[in-house]
Amino acid sequence: MFKNKYTGEDVIFSCEVFPPKRNDDMYDIFRTLDEITDLKPDFISVTYGAGGSNSKKTATIASYIKNICEVQPLAHMTAAGMTEEKLDELLSELKRKQVDQILALRGDKPRDMSEEEFEARHYKFASDLIDDIKKKGDFKITAACYPEIHPESVNLDDDLKFLKYKVDRGVESLISQMFFDNEKFYDFLDNLKKYDVTCPVHAGIMPITRANQLGTSVSLSGSSVPQKLSNLIAKYADDPAGMRQAGIEYAIWQCEDLLRHNVKGIHLYCMNKSDITKEIYEAISG
Ligand code: FAD
Repeated sequence: MFKNKYTGEDVIFSCEVFPPKRNDDMYDIFRTLDEITDLKPDFISVTYGAGGSNSKKTATIASYIKNICEVQPLAHMTAAGMTEEKLDELLSELKRKQVDQILALRGDKPRDMSEEEFEARHYKFASDLIDDIKKKGDFKITAACYPEIHPESVNLDDDLKFLKYKVDRGVESLISQMFFDNEKFYDFLDNLKKYDVTCPVHAGIMPITRANQLGTSVSLSGSSVPQKLSNLIAKYADDPAGMRQAGIEYAIWQCEDLLRHNVKGIHLYCMNKSDITKEIYEAISG
């Protein structure tokens, strides 16, 4: 938490990490977490592999955040590939590890799952998963939201109606999909009011520090890329150091603008980079 230098109000600062693919690399993520802990973030979220791959690592990393770093962890969990039995196991494991906050998601179709298997999933939407988690244990639930609507949503009205339904299942806060155009986020906040969605929303900011980062994950996210950012990427395409700096400055510029608009939560998609997280945190919190 830090004080907003423009409004004097508290700002919740958090970031997202992901489990490494190789078991050998767990040491690296623990070191990264130790470094991020120095910034005293309000919480750190840990992603969950599509379809549940790596779910043990998510729980182990969340436990490290809670019990070693003494920071609040938020364990992601997806409905894709989830059965009731698996959910029972996972919730027991999280409880054993004293992790009691979950980001409940639908998830996307994992690469190794057929379309039929995905369509036949036990929990159809994040809201179904949330209902069962709530029945089975005492967990605080966060959910995802999409300032530029979810790519599968037919229209804005549907997107917001289903979001409202999801939040009413007992969601305490929302984390937004990454966005690069703050105006889209402000419009989204206005729309939430119209649909009576009143829980806190953490603004998802992804620093683009490599020219090729706008590849799969950003294009799948459906987030639009403003001209200002695409110009930077074109300018620094062959200059990795220049791109890193320009990407950090763009993220700082976005965060400063959010603070001026009195946004209460900033969630950095930090890609396991503690140095980038630190640079951004120090610039915006000072
Ligand atoms: P939902 O809320 O279920 O919505 C999915 C779509 O279904 C939307 O279009 C919605 O409008 C529609 N919908 C919802 N309810 C209904 C209904 N009752 N009837 C008809 N339509 C409905 N993926 C991972 O695999 N692992 C992660 O760790 C992960 N972390 C993420 C973190 C954040 C902050 C975000 C924003 C996304 C993350 N994702 C992750 C990606 C996420 O799983 C995908 O975006 C997925 O496509 C949607 O998940 P959701 O929980 O938002 O889905």
